[in-house]
Amino acid sequence: EALMDDRNDQKNILIPATYRLLAVTLLSSIIYTILFNVYSTPFTIHAFQPGIIFFLHFTLLIYLYKNPIRRVHRVINAYGAVMLFTTVPNTLYFTISAWQGDWRFVDTFPPFSGMIILTTALMMLMLPEKYNKLAVITLILNAFPVLLFLLTHQEELQTPRGYDLLFLFGPASLLILLIVPYQRGINNHMNKIVFDLQHSQQAAERDFLTDVYNRRGFEGWLNNVNPSTKACVFLMDIDHFKTVNDRFGHSIGDRVLIEFASRLRTVYQGKYGLARWGGEEFLIVILNPKTNKTNLIAELFRSAINQLPYKDVGKVTASIGVSHINEIKHFSTMVEEADKAVYFGKDNGRDQVALYRDILEKRQDNAD
Ligand code: GH3
Ligand code: MG
Ligand code: MG
Repeated sequence: EALMDDRNDQKNILIPATYRLLAVTLLSSIIYTILFNVYSTPFTIHAFQPGIIFFLHFTLLIYLYKNPIRRVHRVINAYGAVMLFTTVPNTLYFTISAWQGDWRFVDTFPPFSGMIILTTALMMLMLPEKYNKLAVITLILNAFPVLLFLLTHQEELQTPRGYDLLFLFGPASLLILLIVPYQRGINNHMNKIVFDLQHSQQAAERDFLTDVYNRRGFEGWLNNVNPSTKACVFLMDIDHFKTVNDRFGHSIGDRVLIEFASRLRTVYQGKYGLARWGGEEFLIVILNPKTNKTNLIAELFRSAINQLPYKDVGKVTASIGVSHINEIKHFSTMVEEADKAVYFGKDNGRDQVALYRDILEKRQDNAD
């Protein structure tokens, strides 16, 4: 079940988030390519560096598209690696050269800073916590050299670009660190709500005492069966259960019901649905039963019920009514048939299997 949840999270959240991140980066690298070629910079590398980034992310996009579920984690790691290995060397190149007096840093550093902060922030907000490290490392390795350079070069710091860079890599980055835990808190809260919801859904479809389906849960089970599937309904009513309650008390009666239901679960190996239909009535639907075998299956249930004594109570028996075999879309008719058969079994001495088929034959005989 945890595995299923993980898969659903991937489908609903992680994979769309990764597509979006790739789309953001692809779009921005197209814009950078156009800008750098229209307004050329002194560095020829800028004319094709965004193109290279575009190409790498485009490859990742295709790779992800071919098998998102299996590849999404690999794609995110590659995405982070591309971010790291394209931005950090670039920043180091410009700061170190400026330090060596080759040029003024604020004049030459390409306008990547906003993009770096935006993409690392998006990574932190959109991806699972374990990818935070990659984003934070990228941010720090870009921010640190720039901040260090500016703080040690007042004449460059005191320019519009200098203050802009200082603010972006300083306070603005810190703001991200404030927002991220808040976002995580919301995520955790939502996960808890989904978890609780799944649990209460599960609880709502089970009988509280015996943990088999209640009627609502059984209806859900029934809706998942193809309507033209052949099936047979067994309705079981515990014999003289009122007496059990009267002699031993209600709570021991409850224990009998729990034990009864758990015995029903172990009998049949094929596909079936089991529900608590009423107080001491249980209903079983056998799917695709072998014709002429339904009475034998019902006998298996009967002996599972009555062979071993119940704790504190001793022998407990039930009367089992068996419907015709029919398509499951005629379920309510089958329940009526099984119900009539139960009554027939009760009248006929209890602790027995009664087939609707046989009742009809007997009526026929009596009429003749
Ligand atoms: P019969 O052989 O004709 O079926 O006799 P019976 O006593 O089983 O029939 P009846 O339907 O009159 O009584 C069913 C009893 O089941 C009455 C009710 O007190 C008891 N019962 C129903 N639900 C529960 C339950 O959840 N716990 C307990 N302990 N008893 C229950
Ligand atoms: Mg009853
Ligand atoms: Mg009964």
